[in-house]
This record gives sequence, structure tokens and C-alpha cells, in this order.
Amino acid sequence: MSVGITLKNLVKAFGDVRAVDGIDLAIDPGELFFLLGPSGCGKTTLLRCIAGLNEPDSGQVLIGDRNVTHVPPHERDTGMVFQSYALWPHMTVTENVAFGLEMRKVTKAEVNQRVAEALAMVQMTDRAEYKPNQLSGGQQQRVALARALVIKPTCLLLDEPLSNLDAKLRLEMRSEIRRICKSSGLTAVYVTHDQNEALSIADRLVVLNNGKIQQLGTPQQVYRQPSNRFVAEFIGESNFIDGEIIAVENGRTVVKTVIGTITSHQKQTQDLKVNQAVILSIRPEIINLGEPPSDLSNVYFGTVHDTLYLGEMAQHQVTFANLPTNQQPNASLKIFELNPRMVVRDQAQETKLWFAPEDVVVLGI
Ligand code: ATP
Repeated sequence: MSVGITLKNLVKAFGDVRAVDGIDLAIDPGELFFLLGPSGCGKTTLLRCIAGLNEPDSGQVLIGDRNVTHVPPHERDTGMVFQSYALWPHMTVTENVAFGLEMRKVTKAEVNQRVAEALAMVQMTDRAEYKPNQLSGGQQQRVALARALVIKPTCLLLDEPLSNLDAKLRLEMRSEIRRICKSSGLTAVYVTHDQNEALSIADRLVVLNNGKIQQLGTPQQVYRQPSNRFVAEFIGESNFIDGEIIAVENGRTVVKTVIGTITSHQKQTQDLKVNQAVILSIRPEIINLGEPPSDLSNVYFGTVHDTLYLGEMAQHQVTFANLPTNQQPNASLKIFELNPRMVVRDQAQETKLWFAPEDVVVLGI
């Protein structure tokens, strides 16, 4: 049966550095939950507090209803998978996976059965008698996963499990990890700094910075409605434009900016007022070049230049002709044109550009 994980006002400092700075979090039973953030934001420390490898200075860790804050790691019923697979080189795949069970004094018959099940789950049955140096990086990582699963933990804790693999294997293993977590019903907490890994397989995620939660949500919520500039910058790319609100009514926010008025139809979670200074976040892929559909509010004229052709998309920079030169840097927009059919480089082209109000994010300052 799956259990959830609850963190209550968790704090862990190393000297002056508050690596985990008052985290409250409720991870649902059976959820594949990601801790995401830049290097040094406290992801690993938080995961280690859940595993019992770091003792928090204050706060609580609950696994299900059980307060495990001061329980040693091996009594927490968690399985861990690390970036380095840490397999025993002299043991076969089977022996590596069985090792944790033998330490737990399980009968030989049960060891055999559980190892076979764990290897089947990670699709490594046919490599059972291989040694680690006869396996690819992806296969070794599967064995490491089987070794964590074989003890039938209630929670699986994964610390950058794919970062030693090449790009293609990482993609394959992502889906595999989700499949395995979902088929076993495990609650999993997964640390990564790779936003694509998190967006592609997480049920929910938190973005952390300086030991604090910046945002909690589903991948779509965090990408489409970032709650502040840090999140909008860390996840994906964005253009930021300063502005001042001139109207807020009926789910519409109208903002005066250097390129003209920009309307947002996003549901606002914060209180916005007329005359308030805000920042607009406009993702490069929401901007379209050419004729807009009729009656759209966000339509502008610009000059396209610095075009890079990247195959599946072209990247352009757009500037706005009627602005004084000192305003240009604030108003230059990056655009991703998906599936570009005809790309002209090294030629400034006048064009219309437009974007949907539903996609414009208004951020408080
Ligand atoms: P990365 O993605 O680079 O692994 P992270 O988000 O996992 O980073 P942590 O490893 O949790 O970050 O570190 C958070 C902060 O705590 C950093 O400033 C780090 O230097 C500090 N820190 C972590 N472990 C220790 C330790 N054992 N002793 C002293 N400082 C530590």
C-alpha cells in the first residue's frame, strides 16, 4: 500500500548556509514527485533528510503517519538510487540485487523469487548472470533501480539517477522510471536539475531556490503560470517586459509597456491594481510571426533579425522600430518559430507579430 510523505517546517543548515529553509510539503501516496532547482538550492539535502542521511535541525519528516525524523535510514523503509550506481563490480547482477535482501535475513527461496521479480520489472532478466562491467550505463542504472525495488520499500528516493547516462538513454530511462513507479504504486521523490526530466514525467514538482520553495504545482501549472521571475527563468526560456497596469477587469489585465499595450487573460492568483508596476513573462514559442487572426489584442510591428535555423525551429530576435535606441534593449524579444518552412538569414525583415492573451503571464515585482 502506498503512503505519502509529509515535511513540516523542515530546516537543515550547514554553518551559515540554510540548505533547507523551512520546507512544508505533502507528497501524495503513489505520487512521482520532483525536487527541481539550480545547483546548491538544497535538493539533495532535502532528499537526504527524507532518507535519514541528514538529520534536520528542526521540523519533522513523516512517512505515512509515522514520524521518522529521528529514525535511522535503514528503519525508514525507503529505497535509494544515486547518480553513481554503486554496484559491486565482482558480483553478478543477481548477486548485486540480492545483497540487500540477504542482509535482511530473508529465506533463500524468497530472495530468489523477489530478485526475479525486481529484474523482470526493470527488464533485466536476460542479463541476470552478467557482471556490471559487461553492462551499458543504462543497464547498470536499471540494476541499481532493481536493487532499490527488491526490498519493497514504501518510498523510492532518486538522486539525479540519470545524469551519468548519454542523452538518448536518459530519454529512454525517463519513461521507464515512470512506468516502474506507477506499476509498483510506489511514492517516489526524484531530485534533478534537469527541467525536461521533471516536466516530462512528474506528477507534481517543486522548484527550490536557496532552500525555499518557489513554486509547487503540476508541470503544466509551473510552466504556464510561473509564480515569479525566478521560476519563469529557471523553467524554459522567457522574455521579460516591464510595464504598468492600466486596467484590470473581467479576467483581463491590460499593461502599458514600451512596445504598446499588452493584454493578459490569465487567471491571476495575486491581487493586481491599476498603476501597479509589473513584469510580463512572454515565452518565445507563444509569439507568432505574420498575420494574426482577427480581433486579437496583442499585435505589433517589429523587425526580425539574428535568425538561427535549428531544424525543428528557427530562433529570431525582434526589435521595434519606433522606439528610442535606449529603450531597444528592454523591448527586444526572442521568438521560437516552430516548424519553419522558409528561413531568411542576415536580412532585417519588417513583420507583424502577435501572441494570445491566454499565454501572457503577469508577475508582481
Ligand atoms: P546540486 O544540484 O549541485 O547537487 P543541490 O541543490 O542538491 O545541488 P545541496 O547539495 O543540497 O544542493 O546543497 C545545498 C547547500 O548546502 C549548498 O550550498 C552546499 O554547499 C551546502 N551543503 C550541502 N551539504 C553540505 C555539507 N555536508 N557540509 C557543508 N555544506 C553543505
